[in-house]
Amino acid sequence: KPQDNQLQFLIIPLMSPGHYIPTIDMAKLLAQHGVKVTIVTTPVNALRFGSILDQAVQSGLPICFLEFPLPSTEFGLPEGCESLDDLPNLGLAKELFLAQSSLQQQVEQYIENSEPKPSCILSGTFLQWPAETAKKFQIPRIIFDGMNCFTQMINHVLYLTKVYESVGESESFVLPGLPDRIELTRSQLSFAFNSSGSKEVKEFHEKVRVSESEAYGVIINSFQELEQGYSDEYQKIKEDKVWCVGPLSLCHKDVSEKALRGNKPSINKNECLKWLDSKDNASVIYACLGSISRMEPDQLVELALALESSNRPFIWVVRAGHKTPKIEKWIEEDGFEERTRDRGLLIRGWAPQLLVLSHPAIGGFLTHCGWNSTLEGVCAGVPMVTWPQFQEQFYNEKLVVQVLRIGVSVGAQSVVHWGEEEKSGVQIKSEELRKAIEMVMEEGKEGEERRKRAKELGKMAHKAVEEGGSSHQNMRRLIEDIRNQSSTRNSS
Ligand code: UDP
Repeated sequence: KPQDNQLQFLIIPLMSPGHYIPTIDMAKLLAQHGVKVTIVTTPVNALRFGSILDQAVQSGLPICFLEFPLPSTEFGLPEGCESLDDLPNLGLAKELFLAQSSLQQQVEQYIENSEPKPSCILSGTFLQWPAETAKKFQIPRIIFDGMNCFTQMINHVLYLTKVYESVGESESFVLPGLPDRIELTRSQLSFAFNSSGSKEVKEFHEKVRVSESEAYGVIINSFQELEQGYSDEYQKIKEDKVWCVGPLSLCHKDVSEKALRGNKPSINKNECLKWLDSKDNASVIYACLGSISRMEPDQLVELALALESSNRPFIWVVRAGHKTPKIEKWIEEDGFEERTRDRGLLIRGWAPQLLVLSHPAIGGFLTHCGWNSTLEGVCAGVPMVTWPQFQEQFYNEKLVVQVLRIGVSVGAQSVVHWGEEEKSGVQIKSEELRKAIEMVMEEGKEGEERRKRAKELGKMAHKAVEEGGSSHQNMRRLIEDIRNQSSTRNSS
């Protein structure tokens, strides 16, 4: 049998849209560089996220799914529940991680039987078994979990200095040793450092940290120029094994690719484009809070009222979920939809976010600051209204508002704990939301400068992924590194 010299990357993504979506982008990019990619998945996820992949495969790219059934019910999850966004509440996240861990044996069997073995394994830190598997087969493991260098540096400083331990819940403190003066309160820290996190959660995060420190390197969905000081520092800490290869979403060039990315959209692509085409340039505010964050209907009502009182055209994505009937009832009975019909577009379920954001009619993005969404906003060159919910979203807000100066905060104060999202009540009133929207959309000097900076960053993002751009070069550097690793292993 001739020796197959083609590199093979095995990707084990966490089962959540925020992880799956960039994984498929990454697979596409790697395949365009001639690397064979295998993505470990489950039947429901393969169906949900397969369309963009099908397209890539049809165009001859060497990507495939390695599909294993997920024993959801054995772990106390509803039948067919195979992704974080399907969970009845995020408090069940642990059960989902455990269910996914039960795939370890099957993945190892696959590796055992494959010749040659995968050249490297890409996985997030929330799943720890891929680290064991990689060790067992002596395959380099690279972390790919959708965080930027800014967040990595904040986590690094928090672990190193434990500066948060001596402050009260809502007292703000400065993170020492960072290129900018970043202040946070303890209540805004991710679960690993937040004082209300349980012992179990803390132990879990300690394991995450160890697993991170043992990895061969880290792939970052960002570009160096966006967070230069932070990426340089992080590079030093990781002894040059950091590869900023993003923005990954820019691998989707045409309208139909953009419309297909992620889940099947709940709105027809042409209908969406027609609506956007009918609006003036930079006039629409697009409000979407990601794929997993959930809010009380009362809080959603505040958001709806803010959009209404902004008197501007808007797109509001109302996520599907078991509380939807309540908000739907309000939308209809209160007459919200009727009152805003001429200037509001409601997308119930999944929005074709890339398609929407890249349309010139979009003038502002109200986001929960998930890193994918934030970076997609940067690529689109639009200023943002920031409304973080949990995990590192408060850090991303700092990057957007304070460092890049392309956003306005709605003033969220503390993380919402998983499992308690739906008890969190009203945190931000419609008036505060309206004010932040107004600041982002206004035509005055400050708004103008914010828009200009956002546009410049958008251009830089596109440049980074072009031939010769920093991310393009980093992708080559990554592949070269793994190639060298693999030939050293094969010859020893
Ligand atoms: N997304 C989308 N349509 C939606 C909601 C989300 O396409 O209606 C995509 C969005 O473009 C992004 C991802 O889902 O790529 C969400 O990831 P992010 O990191 O922003 O947040 P998360 O959902 O993980 O909190």
